[in-house]
Amino acid sequence: MRECDVLVVGGGPAGIAASVAAARLGQKVILVERYGFLGGWSTIALVAPMMTFHSGNRQVIAGVGDELIQRLRKHDATPGHIPDPIGFTSTVTPFHPEFIKIEAEQMLLEQGIEILYHSLVTEMVQENGVLGAARGYSKSGQFTIKAQAFVDCTGDGDLIYLAGFPYKSGREDGTPQPASLIFRVGNVNFEQVRSYMDEHPDQFVLDHNTDSTGRFSALAVSGFFKLVGEAVEKGDFSVPRDRVLLFSGVIPGEVTVNMTRLPSVDVDNWEDWSRAEIQGRQQVLQTFQFLKKYIPGFAEANLIQIATQVGLRETRRAVGEYYLTTEDILAGTLSPDRIGLGAFPIDIHSPDDAGLEFYDNKHPYGIPYGCLVPKGSHNLWVAGRCISTTHKAHASTRVMPTCFVTGQAAGVAAALMVQENQTARTISITQLQETLRNQGAILD
Ligand SMILES: Cc1cc2nc3c(=O)[nH]c(=O)nc-3n(C[C@H](O)[C@H](O)[C@H](O)COP(=O)(O)OP(=O)(O)OC[C@H]3O[C@@H](n4cnc5c(N)ncnc54)[C@H](O)[C@@H]3O)c2cc1C
Repeated sequence: MRECDVLVVGGGPAGIAASVAAARLGQKVILVERYGFLGGWSTIALVAPMMTFHSGNRQVIAGVGDELIQRLRKHDATPGHIPDPIGFTSTVTPFHPEFIKIEAEQMLLEQGIEILYHSLVTEMVQENGVLGAARGYSKSGQFTIKAQAFVDCTGDGDLIYLAGFPYKSGREDGTPQPASLIFRVGNVNFEQVRSYMDEHPDQFVLDHNTDSTGRFSALAVSGFFKLVGEAVEKGDFSVPRDRVLLFSGVIPGEVTVNMTRLPSVDVDNWEDWSRAEIQGRQQVLQTFQFLKKYIPGFAEANLIQIATQVGLRETRRAVGEYYLTTEDILAGTLSPDRIGLGAFPIDIHSPDDAGLEFYDNKHPYGIPYGCLVPKGSHNLWVAGRCISTTHKAHASTRVMPTCFVTGQAAGVAAALMVQENQTARTISITQLQETLRNQGAILD
């Protein structure tokens, strides 16, 4: 049996930030991850780019997430934060997913964190009325890890579910945002794509505030509405999507395509999940063939990689001490107990049809500490995709930069609990905020 002070489960943006933050405060940290690498959806599901570290021209997210981006720069594995060519949000941060695996892992190792890969947590164990250990499976058999504090960075809220805390999924009727199987395509002729965009601006969602140089510092496409419509009419495209959605990364001629749409994947239902993987690959094939046949610049394109698995936008969300709402986000509410800021708008991929529901936010908003604390929790926090929000608010907080923010805060809170012999609900918010600021986080 292993023992640690803080156990972090899940190695995505939230888990990377939580474990580094807790270890920097002198805690013995173990991170458990079911795959053999870090990055979460950024590497498993090929989700890119990161959106967003900025509100307007102001950087509102820093800390561990931004440190990781700066480390990628030395490999030319990111251009950094650049204006969003679509104008969806302030900046986007393209990155090379393989360097996320390398640099995130290095960051954890430098802090002395033990990483246990290929390990799936399947049980939470109570000791004397509080959580005392997590159990799970690896190829070596069952493992048990005792800890004083636990941070659920599984994206799916596995720990809250296994520990019996209440949770919600999806909108009022329980339907979550659709899932997507993302894929990479190479040998795309960017000049041909750009010429078509220049000639048919009405066919695209574009940021008309950036000049052509700024707009094209990265290739980002949300549009080709007419060509998608033609393909649908001719029976060449039946994926429930109204547009081409793709982004360039850091490799010349290569794009990440985010166009498949798989309705209602229930994370508790393995048959549902298997169906989505199969249907996803069928949609990838059809989408790739559609791009080659209809979209200028794609005639000679190659299919390079399909993501390791379907990316799930929304699964379980904690019911926490506080529940972040649309109103909080749109009003830019800065609650006194905030642990960081978010700036991404509310962007909901419709579970019912091909559309997008979008609510722009002009100001950053504060994320209250209570969103990280499952109601009544003593020594368990949630961070990342599964924090306590409404369905609509989740459509803003779920993005990777914001997951780094909540991860770092949960890691610091867990460390302070252990250090000060407190509980999740009694730690000093002032001390939490001060420590976060000392670690480079932005709270104002
Ligand atoms: C299709 C799609 C498009 C998106 N587009 C964007 C975008 O353009 N920009 C953006 O910034 N964000 C985007 N997002 C959102 C973003 O990628 C995720 O919400 C974010 O990665 C969540 O981070 P996380 O750390 O909470 O969880 P995840 O990234 O989901 O990581 C969770 C980790 O936990 C591990 N894990 C899960 N359960 C267990 C367990 N029981 N035991 C051990 N390990 C476990 C997983 O293997 C994984 O590594 C998109 C998401 C999807 C699905």
